[in-house]
Amino acid sequence: MSAPVARTFHSLGFGESARGRWLVPDRLRFLDALPGVPGIPRGAGLSLAGAGFGEDVLALDMRRFDRILAFDPGAGTITVEAGITLGKLFRFLAPRGWQIAAQPGHPDITVGGCIAGNVHGKNPLAHGCFGRWVLELDLIHPDHGRLVLSADERADLLELTIGGFGLTGVIATATILLQPMPGGRMRVEPVPVASLEAAVETLIDRQGDADQLYSWHDMATSGRRGPGLVFHGRPLNGPRSALPLASYPALNPELWALPVGVMNRPGIAVVNLAQSLRWRRPRELGAAEAAFPFARLPYYFYLYGRKGFLEHQTLVPWAAAPAYLTSLRRLFDRHGVTPGLFVMKPFGGSPGLLRFEGEGLSVALEAAGGEQARTLFTELDALDADHGGRANLIKDARLPARAVAAQYPGLDEFRRRLAAFDPRRRMRSSLSRRLEL
Ligand SMILES: Cc1cc2nc3c(=O)[nH]c(=O)nc-3n(C[C@H](O)[C@H](O)[C@H](O)COP(=O)(O)OP(=O)(O)OC[C@H]3O[C@@H](n4cnc5c(N)ncnc54)[C@H](O)[C@@H]3O)c2cc1C
Repeated sequence: MSAPVARTFHSLGFGESARGRWLVPDRLRFLDALPGVPGIPRGAGLSLAGAGFGEDVLALDMRRFDRILAFDPGAGTITVEAGITLGKLFRFLAPRGWQIAAQPGHPDITVGGCIAGNVHGKNPLAHGCFGRWVLELDLIHPDHGRLVLSADERADLLELTIGGFGLTGVIATATILLQPMPGGRMRVEPVPVASLEAAVETLIDRQGDADQLYSWHDMATSGRRGPGLVFHGRPLNGPRSALPLASYPALNPELWALPVGVMNRPGIAVVNLAQSLRWRRPRELGAAEAAFPFARLPYYFYLYGRKGFLEHQTLVPWAAAPAYLTSLRRLFDRHGVTPGLFVMKPFGGSPGLLRFEGEGLSVALEAAGGEQARTLFTELDALDADHGGRANLIKDARLPARAVAAQYPGLDEFRRRLAAFDPRRRMRSSLSRRLEL
């Protein structure tokens, strides 16, 4: 194993950065390197917040731990090392007719990142978040050694580790319940909607039989009504297995971002026009393409330039959604900010601790980085709290602790349980410091 190297880390979008050290271990003995040093496990580093690095923190890059350890088609379970990527897992599972139920949109994301971020896929109402599918974890902590976590053993620690942002230790292996692949190909029907409100109605109407269900909106139009498309994906009849994803370009904004961003209102209008022309007809996609839409679209992130972008995702109760959307439009106008990406999803699951789960509508938006966006996002925090919403911690690089305190009743319990398990607080990150976890 090579020695740690000093480097500057950035979250995707450059919203949070820190100077720390980076270690890419190939043996689990690496924890010997930790005494006295705060560390944090790290997956692919594709989070939009500084969750996998921190100032003077040793980031433990887990990607060399990427083996499949056991596969049981009878039980529909798989045991893997946590540094395995979703893409590699897909390559193994898809030809055998299985899939991971809740997959975020990029194949380089690791299983460890999915568990620690308790991430969601393209229909969180139907499939819940990643944690729902986790049966057992092997966790390594420098002061506690190796621990097995399951519903029967240390269930409290399992709960804290799912959506725990790596702060309980390093997930070495995970056993995951799989979902039979509903079809090797999917038909994605784009339903045109004239406004955000019309999309909400369509998202509610179509909940019954969708494998994928989310909406995309153009917020650069005048009046900001948010015309867009609701994507309703259903499996096609045919073989219930799929081919792996063909090769795709690496996502690396540190290398490829444009020197100056072009995601201002006119630029966004052009990008949105191109997207809507591309997406307005029904498409038949292979399961891989449907699962990882961003694999072939890394260029989108580069358009924001070196100043990057900020993302914010809120989960609001259904009853509050119409008022929330109206106020959101006013905020965009008042601050002269046009979101480059605006996506809504119906959500489900059980909220608790710091998990981004529960019944309601999720609203995700990205805006070019800078003072205007930061001021807007500060007001968004208040708007979320006023409407009973909660922001997704792994997606927002500047969310302050006070906003989380106003939105998450489980914050104090999370802090208390983490401190009880690890009084020396061996795991730290930019996110944990910002949120005073
Ligand atoms: C193109 C794109 C699309 C996305 N789409 C979605 C989406 O649809 N839904 C969604 O919810 N998210 C989405 N995300 C966000 C992404 O799923 C999460 O940020 C995820 O946590 C990133 O995983 P990673 O492997 O890059 O981990 P990192 O970013 O490196 O780390 C994320 C967190 O996981 C912890 N961690 C990583 N490995 C381990 C381990 N072995 N043990 C313990 N903790 C660990 C880290 O400490 C950190 O707290 C998307 C991101 C991108 C870039």
